[in-house]
Amino acid sequence: MSESEVGRRAEKMTNDKGGFPAQEQEHPGSTAAMDPVPDHGEDTYEGTGKLEGMRALVTGGDSGIGRAVAIAFAREGADVALSYLEAEQEDAESTAELVRAAGRTAVLCPGDLMQEETCTSVVEKAVEELGGLDILVNNAGAQWARDDSLEQMSSERMDRIFKTNLYALMWLTRAALPHLGKGSSIINVSSIQAYEPSTSLLDYAATKAAINNFTVNLAAEVGPRGIRVNAVAPGPIWTPLQPATKPAKAMEEFGADTPLGRAGQPSELAGAFVFLASPKDASYVSGTVLGVTGGKPVF
Ligand code: NAD
Ligand code: MG
Repeated sequence: MSESEVGRRAEKMTNDKGGFPAQEQEHPGSTAAMDPVPDHGEDTYEGTGKLEGMRALVTGGDSGIGRAVAIAFAREGADVALSYLEAEQEDAESTAELVRAAGRTAVLCPGDLMQEETCTSVVEKAVEELGGLDILVNNAGAQWARDDSLEQMSSERMDRIFKTNLYALMWLTRAALPHLGKGSSIINVSSIQAYEPSTSLLDYAATKAAINNFTVNLAAEVGPRGIRVNAVAPGPIWTPLQPATKPAKAMEEFGADTPLGRAGQPSELAGAFVFLASPKDASYVSGTVLGVTGGKPVF
C-alpha cells in the first residue's frame, strides 16, 4: 500500500467533520472499545531494516502512538520492550504479538510510572531482557480535560499530570542514560499543546512545553557522548487517551480544526519516530521537535 493510500485510509475513518462518533471510556482506555478502532499500521507499515539489531524501550507502548511505534520499530528490525499500566495488559499483549509476528523480541514491563522505583525497574528489565538499550521513547502520558478554574484545581491532579508526563520522563531517562552508547537516541513525546495550549488542558500543556525545553537542553548535555535527543509533537491523534479523558461529544469534532481538516491515525506518526531513531537517517538531528500536527504550527 502506498503512502497516499495510508492517508486516504485515515481520512475514511473520520466523519464528515473530520472527527468520530461521540464516545467515552474510563481512563486509561482500551483499543478494542474504540469506534472505529485506530490504525496503527498493522496492514500497511513496511520496514526496510532501518533499525536492524537495535533495542528499544517504548513507554505507553500498549496502545495508540506507542503501539504504532512498536510495530514500526519491530518491522525495521528492532527488539522492543513495552511499558504500560497493569489495567492495559490486554492491549500490551496485542502489541507484543505484533512485535513477535515481525520476528522480533517483545518484553512486557507493566507498572505505574508515577513511582520512581517503577521507572528504574522498567529500564532495568528492558536492559536485562533485550541485552542492552539503544532507543528510549518517552511516550507515556496523561491528560484530563477540565471545565473548572485553576482556583479549583486539586494538588492531587497536579501531581498526577506532572508525575506522569514529566517526573517519569526524567526518572526513565536518568535510569536509561548509563546504558546508552554512541548512536543511541531518546525520543520524547511532546504535543501541539506546547504551542497552542487549550485552557481545558492547562496543566498538561505546561508539561509538554517543559518537555520541549528538556529535550533541547538534554541534547546539549549528552551530545558529546554521541547520544541524540529529540521530540515528536503530535496534533490530534485517534487513540484511547482521547475518549478516556474528554467528554463524549468532543470526539465528534476532534481534529476538525487542523489545516488537513481531520484527526490523524497513530500509523501516521510511525515514520517520524523511525526517522529520529535511525542512526543513519538522523545522524545529525538532535535537540529538535518534529511536529506531526495535520498542519498546525510548531514554533
Ligand atoms: P494512549 O492512551 O494510547 O497512550 C498513553 C499511554 O500512557 C497509555 O497507554 C499508558 O500505558 C501510558 N500511561 C499513562 N499513565 C501512565 C502511568 N501512570 N504509568 C505508566 N504508563 C502510563 O494515548 P496516545 O495518544 O497514544 O498517547 C501517547 C503520547 O502522545 C502521550 O504522551 C500524549 O500526551 C501524546 N499526545 C497525544 C496526542 C493525541 O491526540 N492522542 C496529541 C499530542 C500528544
Ligand atoms: Mg493504553
